[in-house]
Amino acid sequence: MARYTGPVCKLCRREGEKLYLKGARCLSPKCSVERRTYPPGQHGKDAQFKRGRSSDYALQLREKQKARRVYGVLERQFRRYFRVALRRPGLTGSNLLAILETRLDNVVYRLGWADSRNHARQMVQHGHISVNGRRTNVPSYLVRPGDEIAVREQSRSRPYFKELPAYMNERPPAPEWLELDMGAIKGVVSRLPERRDVDIPLNEQLIVEYYSR
Ligand code: SF4
Repeated sequence: MARYTGPVCKLCRREGEKLYLKGARCLSPKCSVERRTYPPGQHGKDAQFKRGRSSDYALQLREKQKARRVYGVLERQFRRYFRVALRRPGLTGSNLLAILETRLDNVVYRLGWADSRNHARQMVQHGHISVNGRRTNVPSYLVRPGDEIAVREQSRSRPYFKELPAYMNERPPAPEWLELDMGAIKGVVSRLPERRDVDIPLNEQLIVEYYSR
């Protein structure tokens, strides 16, 4: 599946907030949002002073773009996720977030094995991750309750995975819906994520409104 390959910090500056797309750098003073507080582009500085009240459409669009950027999903796939969320019982917005959270690259990131979702995506694509014992190199694979996600036996001897416990000490703990067994470098999906499990400041209702126009 295709992915965005342009400058990442620009995406945060466009949204006017930190989206934490670059791991450790996001917490350092080098973060572009902190150094340049205006939108990217030739007229970014002008736009900073002209910003007035945004239309409903603009708010909905920005929220949708923010969610896409956080999870690294392109428009077509995001729209597909929305259609799936619509068909599921319950609140469409929460369903959409649950789908995004259960992407394999996000799960690897949530387990603390990667510095960012991009890093997790690369790890999956390079074949270091298995689901239920089978090598899975598709970052958009959606995990289900009961699935076991692990670092493959063949990859464990690599220096990065040997030092993983030290890296993980500096990362947020795994969420409640994932049971992490660090000794075995594996995690089990205990249940589907709920809205309260998603710590990203997103207003999913605006995304639903965007696609319901
Ligand atoms: Fe966004 Fe991280 Fe870049 Fe800061 S360093 S602008 S949070 S991607």
